[in-house]
Amino acid sequence: MAAPDNSSTLMPIGIYGGTFDPIHYGHLRPNLELCERFNMREVRFIPALLPPHRDRPATSARLRQQMVALAIASEPLFVLDKRELQRGGPSYMVDTLKSLRLDFPQQPLCLLLGMDAFMGINQWYHWQELLDYAHIIVSQRPDTDFEHQQNWPEEVRQFYQSNKADTGAINALLCGKISLQAVTQLAISATDIRNRLKNNQSVRYLMPDSVINLIKYEKLYI
Ligand code: ATP
Repeated sequence: MAAPDNSSTLMPIGIYGGTFDPIHYGHLRPNLELCERFNMREVRFIPALLPPHRDRPATSARLRQQMVALAIASEPLFVLDKRELQRGGPSYMVDTLKSLRLDFPQQPLCLLLGMDAFMGINQWYHWQELLDYAHIIVSQRPDTDFEHQQNWPEEVRQFYQSNKADTGAINALLCGKISLQAVTQLAISATDIRNRLKNNQSVRYLMPDSVINLIKYEKLYI
């Protein structure tokens, strides 16, 4: 009998949460680069139902999920994960990581965050427990201070200093480390896209055409 294929057992899994209101190339390209760099099995895109740290999204969860599905349809390394939409209630990342750890007990889990999100991580529900379930990989984002740690919130700076790791540690351990990673810089935001659509300006080349077509069809953000 042939031995089971365990070749992907220890490949890390990327976890990428967001409101995706709407999803754009600033969400897609940096994560593909991180997926390749860390030899991840996949990146799971997890739309938030009720993001606890910001205003309620303008667009329904169903349509935000549909936009994510269209945006990642042609990339086999990207997977839509609906667990926060199905769970209901506030979308606390620590709960999401707990359930992912049950689903993937053998694999390093990597929570992928933009620098702006990481700078506010000390406001997240049970934030110090996040590393019990996953690593945190922070990617640079235009207009965020990647280099000057003296400008970071003190709690976040200490959190990073106590847990920072080089790239190798991410693949060797299941969780517990923080790594800062440079990625291609795309100064795109969902806020800017919503404003352009409101002002009847083009959003072409900021996001996939399939997502733009759905936005037009559903008359979103006008
Ligand atoms: P909004 O403008 O509505 O705040 P957003 O474009 O920042 O939205 P979110 O869904 O809030 O998108 O962000 C989800 C994650 O994507 C966060 O970790 C954020 O840092 C990251 N992110 C968003 N845009 C970019 C970008 N252009 N480059 C790198 N990371 C990004």
